[in-house]
Amino acid sequence: MEKTLRPEPRKGVMDIAAYVPGKSTAGAGVGKVHKLSSNENPLGASPAAKEAVRRMTEKMEFYPDGAATRLREAIAERHGLNPANIICSNGSDEVIGLLTQTYLNPGDEGVFTEHGFLVYKIYIQAAGGVPVVARESRETADVDAILAAVTPRTKIVFVANPNNPTGTYLPFEEIRRLHAGLPGNVLLVIDAAYAEYVRRNDYEAGIELVSSAENVVMTRTFSKIHGLGGMRIGWAYGPAQIIDALNRVRAPFNVNAAAIEAGVAAMGDRAHVERTVLHNEKWLNWLSEELPKLGLRVTPSVANFLLIHFPENGRHSAAAADEYLLARGYILRRVGAYGFPNALRMTVGTEEANRGVVAALTEFLKD
Ligand SMILES: *Cc1c(COP(=O)(O)O)cnc(C)c1O
Repeated sequence: MEKTLRPEPRKGVMDIAAYVPGKSTAGAGVGKVHKLSSNENPLGASPAAKEAVRRMTEKMEFYPDGAATRLREAIAERHGLNPANIICSNGSDEVIGLLTQTYLNPGDEGVFTEHGFLVYKIYIQAAGGVPVVARESRETADVDAILAAVTPRTKIVFVANPNNPTGTYLPFEEIRRLHAGLPGNVLLVIDAAYAEYVRRNDYEAGIELVSSAENVVMTRTFSKIHGLGGMRIGWAYGPAQIIDALNRVRAPFNVNAAAIEAGVAAMGDRAHVERTVLHNEKWLNWLSEELPKLGLRVTPSVANFLLIHFPENGRHSAAAADEYLLARGYILRRVGAYGFPNALRMTVGTEEANRGVVAALTEFLKD
């Protein structure tokens, strides 16, 4: 008998653990559902973005501008950048993938941190690269550990600042120290998906460092503060040579026409961003005070979510809490895949959702 031939994926592809998104349904019989599993904006998208997308539906037959020029100009104006140094993408996940595809040869190493965003690992592997994990200290990226993980094979280093799912951040002096310790041929990617939420004097998203170096890229997203996760819009700011290389690899129309309209409108609506920041600050502080009163440790967060750690006895585990909350319509995020088998990540939600979770956990812990 002739052996049956079949197509085989490239080496390493079947080693990839597919990304598991946060749950979005709570199961049958549950009343109102509060989705607190994907760090979405509880105030929704800007009304201007909604209106822009409605108008766009009259012109759906036209291809989008492949260069997303108006969107790059809107971003550039808002942030004081040169639009030529910006690339837009189908969510910032896509630009993370473009970076690994463009800068890793098979066998090259990509470094990320112990509790870092899992998308880095997936894309390093998808590009045929070798994922290398640098340990963290106190649930925070550790610059010395990252530098110690760098070898002659390292081509890319990812740091989420602030990080998901911990919510911790590195002061900008530490990012500078990291950059200063990296060889010039290693690309440093600063993923600043939550930058707008951070209210710390020693924090910077990375714009200045990108502008003054040849090997630093900052990635950003419209999915979080702008409430546009469903539209899939991300962007990166980088040196001209890097943006040029990424533009050769990306799909010709990677950002769709509705996304471009939504993004331009969202960039112009500063009031919505400000409202969101104020809401988050108020309720992040509230949750950070209330949850420890229940005996639950929370990792200090500067983002729009909190990592909640559960007691090590069986009855009040994160898994049990997750089921208890789900049955009451509160969807949080399991984070076992991030090295936290006994914690849940909670997005800062509406007042109703935040109070509801604290009340439900109070009951849960009494049992
Ligand atoms: C949510 C998130 C992103 C953004 O993802 P999009 O693809 O833009 O929706 C990027 N990095 C981190 C760390 C995130 O948490």
